[in-house]
Amino acid sequence: MQGLMMDYPLLIKGIMQHALRTFPEQEVVTRLVEGGIHRYTYADSYKRMCQAAHALQDMGVKKGDRVAVMGWNTHRQLELYYAISCIGAICHTINPRLGPENANYVINHAGDSVLFYDTTFQPLVEALAPGLKTVKKYIVLTDAANNPKSKIKAEAYEEMIAGKPEAFDWPDFDENTASAMCYTSGTTGKPKGVLYSHRSTVIQAMVTSLPTSFGAELSDVVLPVVPMFHVNAWNVPYSALMGGMKLVFPGPGLDGASLYELMEAEKVTYALGVPTVWLNLLNYIEGEGKTFSSLKYSLIGGSALPEKIIRGYDKHGVRCRQGWGMTEMSPTGTTNFEPVGFYDQPIDERIPYQLKQGKALPYVDMRIVSDEGKILPHDGSESGHLQVRGPSVLKAYYNHDKDILTPDGWFDTGDVATIDETGMLLITDRAKDVIKSGGEWISTIDIENAALSHEAVAQAAVIGMPHPKWDERPLLIVELVPGADADPQQILQFVKDQLSKISWPDDIQVVDEIPLGATGKVLKTKLREMFKDYVLPDLREGGGTTTSASAAVTEVEPDKKKSGFPFLRRKGK
Ligand code: AMP
Repeated sequence: MQGLMMDYPLLIKGIMQHALRTFPEQEVVTRLVEGGIHRYTYADSYKRMCQAAHALQDMGVKKGDRVAVMGWNTHRQLELYYAISCIGAICHTINPRLGPENANYVINHAGDSVLFYDTTFQPLVEALAPGLKTVKKYIVLTDAANNPKSKIKAEAYEEMIAGKPEAFDWPDFDENTASAMCYTSGTTGKPKGVLYSHRSTVIQAMVTSLPTSFGAELSDVVLPVVPMFHVNAWNVPYSALMGGMKLVFPGPGLDGASLYELMEAEKVTYALGVPTVWLNLLNYIEGEGKTFSSLKYSLIGGSALPEKIIRGYDKHGVRCRQGWGMTEMSPTGTTNFEPVGFYDQPIDERIPYQLKQGKALPYVDMRIVSDEGKILPHDGSESGHLQVRGPSVLKAYYNHDKDILTPDGWFDTGDVATIDETGMLLITDRAKDVIKSGGEWISTIDIENAALSHEAVAQAAVIGMPHPKWDERPLLIVELVPGADADPQQILQFVKDQLSKISWPDDIQVVDEIPLGATGKVLKTKLREMFKDYVLPDLREGGGTTTSASAAVTEVEPDKKKSGFPFLRRKGK
């Protein structure tokens, strides 16, 4: 028997309309690309969304058309998020940091008909334009006065919307209609397009609004540092409007000083971003002897949350909650919300919990499977390939003919993880980064976390180096805090002191800068390239040095060998 409820589609326009009728006076603040601060209300924003929708229609954008946006987090991009999707077109956000080759590929592959961009990216767009086969119109996200001279004919956004009606008759359509798209970063192979729907986006916005998910409240002032050009800024532009929170957009100012200044000026209480952003901000405030007067919470994801960040922010009264997910999951899969009374415990007792990725959101199913495809128990020790399914998980990439799901309909995330009896997820590595040594699997995340807790280490990455006897052994690569004068061997010993012997790095190398990818994650492909001629100490002519830990591999404790690829716990965990 079918239920007797209305067939009312879950459309993104519902969020916009709710924001307008319930929180019309709430503020949206932007640090402008042109300089200065822009401030308006949800009601003002709605009017401009209507104007943008008219402008899009007038230029011929129809349902199903792809419209590209290459921009910083600003009120203008917020307007486009809603205007494009709610007329039935698809908002294709483009990550400018991926470079010209990548941008050219994704714009042509998506078949975008219009390209909106911030003035910062004008040189990139000018270089791209001759190779863009489908783009018919270019719009610069600024006003006429700030529209720079350009080789391409590009109207200013403010001119485009000026004089258009401030109301719009938003259409109804099927909730499975595509709303937005984002390409994976493509560090291996060509980027692949993930095509979100209205339904998947509304569901993600709802579940991430739960207190046990992102947990922001009406009284919060929310700053998404996570870019709107990558997985819809974790859907904050939707969930914040659903919850009626004040939104603060950082524009292009993502360095420690600019973020700190904006947080203090706008009394930001809740901010979201990847670990590298939080490390930079921490280095800035510690270097300047400052602290936060309003920031209370940060939601951190995109790569593993290091202990250094948790401890560093705790000193300033800021709580760190970790989230895990991926572009293909819209993106959030888990958050490690705190049990009641959690913050009554001393920090040393909290840390092991906070280092984990958390529990699944509603409507996210997770399982782990062995190399052979056997489903493994959720006992916190068996580790395997993490697979997911749910209404906000993709079933296929855009215009890509390969079947990507398992025969029984799950998506393999490419992550290696354990899940315990309570459903707590612990990511031990990316399957392609995990180090295979003497038949055991070593977690690079564990070693990186240990290194990052050294005060002189600003950034750390571990890669597997070939070894004739053990297949691979870990090499620790660190970037030091500016001005730090630390002995690398002392750092290596500090790391070893925290790890089981099998995980001891064979060597440490200090570099000026650890390369970061377009979404702020360590680029291990680049590091592997940088160290392709490197030889581990015990393989060099004349034998090894005291840094070699290969000998230790034989001393793995028997219980660690139990599973196919045991997660090696840090001492005391
Ligand atoms: P992306 O699709 O670019 O957002 O990258 C998704 C990948 O980032 C995941 O498959 C994980 O490997 C990694 N990732 C995201 N969040 C976390 C986290 N909290 N801890 C560890 N890895 C993470």
